Amino acid sequence: MGNAFSLVRLALTEFLDNLRTFQTLQDRIQRSPGLPLPNPSRSFWSYPPSPIATHVSQLPAHADFVIIGSGITGTAHADGHNVTVLVLEARDACSGATGRNGGHISPPLYHDYPSLKRDHGQAVAQKMIKFRLAHLQELRSAAEQEGILAESQWREVESVDVFYDSDLFEKAKAKVQKYKADLPFEAEHHQVHEAHEAIEKFRLAPDTLGCISSSAGAIHPYQFVTGILAKLLSRYPDTFSLCTNTPCTSISPPTSNTPYYTLSTPRGIITTPHVIHATNGWASTLLEKLRAKIVPFRGNMSAQRPGQSLPIPQSTTHRSFIFYTRAIGYDYLTQLPTGEHELMLGGGFAQDGDEGYEAMGNTDDTSYSKRIGAHLSGVLPQYFGEDNWGKESVLMDEGEDAGEWAEGRVKALWSGILGISVDLIPWVGRLPRVVSGRNEPPLSSVVKSEKEEEGESVHVGAPPGEWIAAGYTGEGMVHAWLSGKALAEMVLGREVEGGLGEWFPDMMRVTEKRWKKAKAENLLDALNDD
Ligand SMILES: Cc1cc2nc3c(=O)[nH]c(=O)nc-3n(C[C@H](O)[C@H](O)[C@H](O)COP(=O)(O)OP(=O)(O)OC[C@H]3O[C@@H](n4cnc5c(N)ncnc54)[C@H](O)[C@@H]3O)c2cc1C
Repeated sequence: MGNAFSLVRLALTEFLDNLRTFQTLQDRIQRSPGLPLPNPSRSFWSYPPSPIATHVSQLPAHADFVIIGSGITGTAHADGHNVTVLVLEARDACSGATGRNGGHISPPLYHDYPSLKRDHGQAVAQKMIKFRLAHLQELRSAAEQEGILAESQWREVESVDVFYDSDLFEKAKAKVQKYKADLPFEAEHHQVHEAHEAIEKFRLAPDTLGCISSSAGAIHPYQFVTGILAKLLSRYPDTFSLCTNTPCTSISPPTSNTPYYTLSTPRGIITTPHVIHATNGWASTLLEKLRAKIVPFRGNMSAQRPGQSLPIPQSTTHRSFIFYTRAIGYDYLTQLPTGEHELMLGGGFAQDGDEGYEAMGNTDDTSYSKRIGAHLSGVLPQYFGEDNWGKESVLMDEGEDAGEWAEGRVKALWSGILGISVDLIPWVGRLPRVVSGRNEPPLSSVVKSEKEEEGESVHVGAPPGEWIAAGYTGEGMVHAWLSGKALAEMVLGREVEGGLGEWFPDMMRVTEKRWKKAKAENLLDALNDD
């Protein structure tokens, strides 16, 4: 009896523990993300700072479009041609997730194709895969058009998924088969490498069970985005404004006196018929109804000196790795093509012993998780094998970098806030009133075309409203750019001309039905399901 009683007590304790964790999690995801905190941890990408890092244009009284957020989404949407555009940024330019991420342009492909197909049908799943894949060349051509290809460090890489668990590897191989059967063209670069070949070819540790390789890309996200913002500022000095360190603190709906939205900032107020929310993990600060739909999540990153025996560049400047050590969570690695060829290692999700609960709803990017930091700092020789890693590297003469970073293997550790979509699909489009929670301005306040200014009454914009592109769940570099572009076409009322029907996956649109259905409780099931 004593024994049975202990078992009941144990079960009860576990049940209560789970309940408490569940309650804590519920509380965290329901609360406001707040405004981005001042003094974020120092991202290696954002050094040296861009010349426009702290740019403050004169705050206009009115703009045709106000974009809140200067990351990759806000920048994709930004323009100044024939319309007045203001970008409001709470901190320095590109200081959110984009300036703090892993730099991978690695679309999830075989990884979630089977579940996309099951949940949305084959045609929709394939459109999503093609949309993600298109980002590789779209980011390249954007960088090329703006003349910043070299500084953006855009490059094609061989992407290598590494497995240590036979169950995970077998499941991944089965998914590759399904992906190849339905999308043979898109899957042509996918190859399975069993243990011996994988260890030899990619110079990995002896406990590697196998790899799946395909092609992907890598980029310097901060230089890409700030490079484009700088070009826009010089190309459209009269119509494009960027106010950094100017948070939008509230949005008021139109009144009988003001037929526009009124946005408040510490520098003053601005009116506009179109508000574009490009705030990703912070979206639900200004959009309360998106709480527990787009949930902030703190990710951790590091920049590390490679071991001396890793061939430099370990051909890894043209390779990226994802290390799958367990069912949920992974570590991801790229290598910089310049400087000390730093290894940019991120992840550690679910390596911190509490299954990532600490990261969920956490918007404090002024520090990083010590446990994940310790994991990231120690794990690289284990992934490549001690022999392949060799001695620790010797500090180079860092020139103008001298004294900027730590001197050991790990030069920098930092964190960033990403936005998890609870149905794992990004949210893009006009916000229905039930989601924005605010009335829309009257139709007469839409942006006017040149023709209209000349006396002809032709509206070029969509009816006024609030718009969003956010919730990329850790894969912003393969969703955000074209989401921002699609959103621009929607706001300008050019969906047909922009061919959105052909390339934009409608499943990402924000609808009342989807909003009602998206539930945080289903997130874990969906993740386990994959
Ligand atoms: C550590 C980490 C690693 C990642 N690695 C990768 C990767 O390798 N590949 C990949 O595809 N994706 C990665 N991601 C995800 C990717 O970085 C994001 O999905 C993407 O950058 C989101 O871009 P965004 O422009 O929508 O948001 P952000 O870049 O976060 O920009 C939002 C901006 O809005 C500003 N803002 C917020 N609230 C306000 C306000 N009220 N007023 C004014 N401004 C405001 C913020 O300061 C911020 O600058 C990673 C994310 C993190 C955090």
